[in-house]
Amino acid sequence: MYLSKTPEIIKPLASSFIWDIPHVVNEVFITFDDGPIPEVTPYVLDILAEYNAKATFFCVGANAEKHPELLERLLYEGHAIGNHTWAHENGWKTSQFSYLRSVMQADELLNCSLFRPPYGRITKQQADALKKRFSLIMWDVLSGDFDTNISPAQCLKNVTENTRPGSIIVFHDSIKAKDNVLSVLPDFLRFLNDMGWHSSILDERKKQ
Ligand SMILES: [Zn+2]
Repeated sequence: MYLSKTPEIIKPLASSFIWDIPHVVNEVFITFDDGPIPEVTPYVLDILAEYNAKATFFCVGANAEKHPELLERLLYEGHAIGNHTWAHENGWKTSQFSYLRSVMQADELLNCSLFRPPYGRITKQQADALKKRFSLIMWDVLSGDFDTNISPAQCLKNVTENTRPGSIIVFHDSIKAKDNVLSVLPDFLRFLNDMGWHSSILDERKKQ
């Protein structure tokens, strides 16, 4: 069970985290989790290029190590990267030591200032340790693209109905999400164009 829209009530309770970017007029922030992988990421990059859209890729360290050419390509094409641990650990089921070791192992390769916990699951202790070094990026809109029980039409509805300026939107460049994400992304980018909005990368400038 997941909600496409993060309930407003959760956000102030978790102020160490960034859920959306306030005070922007016509920008949104598309993000992709769990890549980069050759089966999906290059197609995502082709679509983004076609619409001149920029995104932030929260990379799994082990994938980035296997596919350095994809990491290089997404940076070369003006996208941003974030750390998504080394092996997609669930923070609730991982000790403080193992979790931080995984993040720092990924950091050696990715060397970036953004972090997103896999599954959104992270303990307060883990978050407190990581927030000294990273901006902890959550989201306010989930596409649900990873859910193979939902149609591309439903997935598109999840994002178009909930996105507003400043939204941080989650897609996945993963095998599970492939059919949905490759089908929905062009429609969503056209929707953004129609609204007069565009997708930018998350960066230090957006931290406040
Ligand atoms: Zn993930």
